[in-house]
Amino acid sequence: MVNLQSPCKECSRKCCEKFIVPLTIFDLFRIKKATGKDIEQFSTLIEYNKTDEKNFFPIFFMDQKRNLKQMLLVLKRFNNSCIFFDQQICLIWPAHPLVCKVYPFFEMDKNGELKYVKNFICPRKWTEKEIDNYKIKEALAVFKFEIEEHNKIIRKWNAEYREKSEKDFFEYLKKSVRT
Ligand code: SF4
Ligand code: SF4
Repeated sequence: MVNLQSPCKECSRKCCEKFIVPLTIFDLFRIKKATGKDIEQFSTLIEYNKTDEKNFFPIFFMDQKRNLKQMLLVLKRFNNSCIFFDQQICLIWPAHPLVCKVYPFFEMDKNGELKYVKNFICPRKWTEKEIDNYKIKEALAVFKFEIEEHNKIIRKWNAEYREKSEKDFFEYLKKSVRT
């Protein structure tokens, strides 16, 4: 999305500043591999109702001392923007999360045409040629698959481990990828 060669180069990078970025477990480990950082250094949990996310990403329950919270796994933020956003550039491109790769599209209609998200702030219209060039449809297919797999891991946490701590949660994610 923030590749300087991309159609985003004329944009003020509104999406990287505005949105809290939800992650799948696959994003986590791609970013870990690309940066060499441990996953807790760049990701965190945030209460679901404090995000813009309403449709796509499954929720983790944290139920410590019967104080149930609904959480999303997200990229950390720094200075009111994504932690990897620096001087108008994405520091982890092309290992940026799939949600960034497909933005501002999340769905295809029944004719296979991409649909813009309803709350999009993207200031430009994307042409079919750009959508092809940046392989957005392919990224969307991977995104859908990975969300499903991510969902399975979340369901297991919610069913078996929700009373454990946030530290346990990150250990659980690491273990889920190893197995
Ligand atoms: S990961 Fe990169 S593309 Fe995604 S919000 Fe952060 S800076 Fe932007
Ligand atoms: S708001 Fe649109 S044009 Fe701007 S960086 Fe994001 S996707 Fe690219």
